[in-house]
Amino acid sequence: MDEPRRLRPRPLTVPAPVPMLDLAAQHAALCGEIEAGLRTVLASGRFVLGAQGADFEREAADYLGVAHAVGCGSGTDALLLSLRALGIGAGDEVVTSPFTFFATAEAIAHTGARPVFVDIDPHTFNLDPAQVAAAIGPATRAILPVHLFGQPAAIEPLQALAQRHRLPLIEDCAQAFGARRGGRMCGGFGDAGCFSFYPSKNLGACGDGGLIVTGSAALAAELRALRNHGAHADGRPRSLGWNSRLDELQAAVLRAKLKRIDAYNAARRRVAQRYDAGLAGLADLRTPFVDPDGTHIYHQYTVLVPERERVRADLAAAGIQTAVHYACPLHREPAFATGRAPPSLPVAESVAQHCLSLPIWPELDDTRIDRVVDVLRTAIADESAG
Ligand SMILES: *Cc1c(COP(=O)(O)O)cnc(C)c1O
Repeated sequence: MDEPRRLRPRPLTVPAPVPMLDLAAQHAALCGEIEAGLRTVLASGRFVLGAQGADFEREAADYLGVAHAVGCGSGTDALLLSLRALGIGAGDEVVTSPFTFFATAEAIAHTGARPVFVDIDPHTFNLDPAQVAAAIGPATRAILPVHLFGQPAAIEPLQALAQRHRLPLIEDCAQAFGARRGGRMCGGFGDAGCFSFYPSKNLGACGDGGLIVTGSAALAAELRALRNHGAHADGRPRSLGWNSRLDELQAAVLRAKLKRIDAYNAARRRVAQRYDAGLAGLADLRTPFVDPDGTHIYHQYTVLVPERERVRADLAAAGIQTAVHYACPLHREPAFATGRAPPSLPVAESVAQHCLSLPIWPELDDTRIDRVVDVLRTAIADESAG
C-alpha cells in the first residue's frame, strides 16, 4: 500500500523546516524593553516578592478583570495552592477532564484528593457539563475545568452546577491567558483561575511562573500565605505552606509581554483562520471547533485525522514538526490508577488517538502556513486513496 507513495518526485530545493513554536522573533522585538526591566531588578537588589511582582499582579488583575492576582512558581503550583486554599485534601474528590496536561490531575492528587475523570465534549475537547453533573457525589469537593488549547470551556453550566452543589469552581487557564467567553476573561468565572507562564504558553516567561486570580480577598490572603511558607501579613506562619513565588526577573519579562498579549493572541487567531480556510472541505480532517460564544486564543491548533501516525510521518518528512497533545488520556495514566479498571471515556479516548497539533505562534508567516496546509492536504489525500 505504501509503495506508490515513495515514487512521488521530491522537490529540488528543500524548504526551511517549520518548528512547532519559535519564540526568537517575539523576544528579538522585545529585547530592549526586557533588558531594561531586568536591569531595574538587578539594580534593586530585590529578587523575590518585590515591586516588579506586585506591579505585574496589579496589571494582570486589571487585564483579566478580577480583583486579586497572586503570583506563584508555576501553573502546577497555581492549581495546587488554589486547591489547598479551598480546603481540598485527603479523601476528597475533584471532578476534572481526562484530556489535559498531566499537571491538572497531578496537582489534585498531590493534595491527597482523587481526580475523578469524566468525558469531554467532542467539539471543544473540554469538560462535558452533563457528565460532570452525573459524577457529583458525596465526596465531591470541587469542579476543575480546563480551557484546553485556549478554547473556553462551557463555563456557565459548570458555574450553575458548582452553585447548586456549593462546590468551588477552579479554572485551569494555563493555556488560556486572554481567552474570553461572553466578553469575560477566562479565570474570572470560578472561585480561582490558575495560569501558567511556562515559556511556550501564550503569555510566557523566560523560565517558570504562575498566577492565581480570585474575586475573594480572603482567598487571595490565604494564597499569599501558602506561597510563602504559610506566613500571613504579620510574617508569622499560621500553617504549613510552600516556597512558590513568581520571581522579580520573570515578573519584569511578563510585564513587557502583557502589554502585547492582545496582539499575540490576535496573531495566533490569524494563523488559525488561515489554517481553517486552507484545510476546509477535507472529509478526513476536522479543524478546531469555532464556538460563537467564545474567543479561542489557539495556544494549540489541533486537528483530528484518522491515521495520525502516517500523516505525522509525511509532515515530518517535509520538515514540518507536529505534536500530539495528548496521546494518553489521564484516566489511563498509571500514575492515576485507582486499583479498579479505568472508566470508559470514549470521546477522550478517540480524540487522544486522532489529535494532531500543527505549528502555531504569533509570527508564523503565510508562506509557511500554506506549506503546512499543502503537505497536510496531500498526506490526507494519500490516506483516503490508500
Ligand atoms: C502548562 C499547563 C499546566 C502546568 O503549568 P506549569 O507552569 O508548567 O506548571 C497545567 N495545566 C495545563 C492545562 C497546562 O497546559
